[in-house]
Amino acid sequence: MAKKNNVIIIGAGPAGTIAAALLQNKGHQVTIVERDVFPRFCIGESLLPQCMEFIEQAGMLDAVNNADFQLKSGAVFLHNKQYSEFKFSDKFTCGFDHTFQVQRDKFDHLLASEAQRMGVEIRWQEEVAQADFSNAKPLLTIKKANGYSYQLEADFILDASGFGRVLPRLLGLEKESDFPSRQSLFTHLEDHIDCPQYDRNKIRIIVHPKMSEVWYWLIPFSNGRCSLGVVAGEGIIQTLGIDHQQVFMTLIDQEPTLAALLKNAVFDTKIRSIKGYSANVSSHYGKGYALLGNAGEFLDPVFSSGVTIAMKSASLAADVLDRQFNQQTVDWQTEFVEPLQIGVETFRTFVTSWYQGELQDVVFYDQQQENLKSMICSILAGYVWDETNPYVKNSRSRLKTLAELCRE
Ligand SMILES: Cc1cc2nc3c(=O)[nH]c(=O)nc-3n(C[C@H](O)[C@H](O)[C@H](O)COP(=O)(O)OP(=O)(O)OC[C@H]3O[C@@H](n4cnc5c(N)ncnc54)[C@H](O)[C@@H]3O)c2cc1C
Repeated sequence: MAKKNNVIIIGAGPAGTIAAALLQNKGHQVTIVERDVFPRFCIGESLLPQCMEFIEQAGMLDAVNNADFQLKSGAVFLHNKQYSEFKFSDKFTCGFDHTFQVQRDKFDHLLASEAQRMGVEIRWQEEVAQADFSNAKPLLTIKKANGYSYQLEADFILDASGFGRVLPRLLGLEKESDFPSRQSLFTHLEDHIDCPQYDRNKIRIIVHPKMSEVWYWLIPFSNGRCSLGVVAGEGIIQTLGIDHQQVFMTLIDQEPTLAALLKNAVFDTKIRSIKGYSANVSSHYGKGYALLGNAGEFLDPVFSSGVTIAMKSASLAADVLDRQFNQQTVDWQTEFVEPLQIGVETFRTFVTSWYQGELQDVVFYDQQQENLKSMICSILAGYVWDETNPYVKNSRSRLKTLAELCRE
């Protein structure tokens, strides 16, 4: 029997486990090295319908469908008295019209268990500390929780270490993002929302009444709890104070609809903070490695694109690597980076336009033509690799023109 190729994946988040399952199912031998023990907290709970395609490819759809996560069928945007609703079933691109709002501790644990069921080995509580690519095969130095270190050789390394950004740090690939540094404060809470019109199947994105670059997310879970967060420029948070709990509650109180919706909520979990999360790299691949998900690039939380991009990168990389292992000529630039960037660039344009205000004008315009709305809806559903959608191919100029029309 032919010797199996051996892949080491750094990190068992969505990028790591989807890549692991895809490669294991193609007959390769996959080991994930994960620093933490699961379940563990992770932010990023609102999925997009597009990522269901990658979950299905990886053979994990039944497990996810049966896990009792909160269904997600669309998104609602609010700003003062303005209200706009997008239903994924109205989107331009064919494909899934729903997804889930997931507690990431449970979701990531489920994907990791599924990967293990398929034969992937996961080494928990082991941290990749060094990487050496100077020999024929990459060599990793791995630190165990008890302080003991050992070395592990592989045919190929996929770095899916998220904000750990292991290879970008060790190989000097880190590059600043084009986006200004923003900060997010967030928590989970018992929401006790009793408003009959409130739709738990939709994420709410709420713009601050006075500062349009400040926005909140409200992501309901299936167990009566929700994820609540606010995003603002670092300077804005700092001017409001140093106590995250107090700043968070001040910002919630400043938004009357949110404050009313959460009037009976029980805030029982500490407020967490993360800042300066947007990041990029000078190269997404090199001899013996490729970067997946946030280890490569992270844009911004506003359109919940993180997990979808992470899974898309996993799917593309698994395909290229499988063909490379099968002695086919592959080109990581044109077969991995460039296809991935089609969607990343679309999201980048939408994120930029959101903070510049153009996209907010488009989203809140109440006489939008149905066909244009369905194209925007496709982007919000994560179908950003569908080049038949004009808002994928020419997103920048299209959005600019549309915003001008809406403003008139
Ligand atoms: C405020 C905020 C809100 C967000 N909201 C959303 C959202 O609603 N929807 C969405 O899709 N995305 C959201 N995101 C983005 C989302 O969190 C990430 O894009 C997503 O988790 C990336 O997945 P990943 O697999 O690349 O990395 P991760 O999920 O971060 O997994 C990386 C894994 O690598 C492990 N690791 C790290 N270093 C090492 C090491 N040295 N050795 C071994 N293992 C290591 C970590 O323990 C971790 O388990 C949000 C991000 C932020 C900042």
